[in-house]
Amino acid sequence: MSEAPIRRILGVRVHDVTMEEALRIVEGFLAKGGARQICTVNPEFVMHARRDPAFFRVLEEADLNVPDGVGLLWAGRILRQPLRERVPGVELMEALAARAAERGWRVFLLGAAEGVADRAAAVLQARYPGLIIAGTFAGSPRPEDAPPILERLREARPDFLFVAYGAPRQDLWIARYQPELRIPVAMGVGGAFDFIAGVVPRAPRWMREIGLEWLYRLIRQPWRWRRMLALPRFVLAVLAARYGSGGTGAGAG
Ligand code: UDP
Repeated sequence: MSEAPIRRILGVRVHDVTMEEALRIVEGFLAKGGARQICTVNPEFVMHARRDPAFFRVLEEADLNVPDGVGLLWAGRILRQPLRERVPGVELMEALAARAAERGWRVFLLGAAEGVADRAAAVLQARYPGLIIAGTFAGSPRPEDAPPILERLREARPDFLFVAYGAPRQDLWIARYQPELRIPVAMGVGGAFDFIAGVVPRAPRWMREIGLEWLYRLIRQPWRWRRMLALPRFVLAVLAARYGSGGTGAGAG
């Protein structure tokens, strides 16, 4: 576990960490040994965890849950569960890749469409010279596909495993196999390989700064509208928890 303060957003566990603190905590994980799991919590995670006990449990037991996105910070203010800084998953992954290049930590990229992990790895190696890529594989989150993936990972012996199967599958996958894999740090990263490989552009900085990354994603990937309904539902749930009768939003934390 990390020493960062724990907040509860609609009952779901999130650490109040800055990017710098998250990096320091991860360095500690590598120094202390063990097999850790990092999750990047956004409003979709919170809404999903409220209906899915298995996913809720993964977030309860993860070693670090970073607040990924402006929605969580807003909710934290409303629910008096203060979160100081957003730590976007893709940015944390890049920062960890930069550290890995300096320290000689081995990195494995698992997930995304065929060839994307490879391209993301090449981009990271160009950005962070010396970065050791222990392997890349598109793989699949289906249980019947796990044995050859586990075999590859055992052979590659990475220090960091980034898994891009989308939430919650990637996080459930890590929690399921980490006890046998025992990789020092494993993290679910959603669409991060797509961003890094340039398959999907990220919102321009100004849009991210005013908290409109979600709008950009909706315009670029309109087929996501259904799952993005989690956002207005999250807003309503937060407001109900704060201002409704018998609100439980701050959780029992
Ligand atoms: N993905 C995958 N296998 C699957 C389902 C999804 O590798 O069975 C990948 C997909 O190609 C994408 C990532 O998982 O790179 C999920 O991206 P998304 O933007 O949906 O992530 P999220 O919104 O969950 O962060």
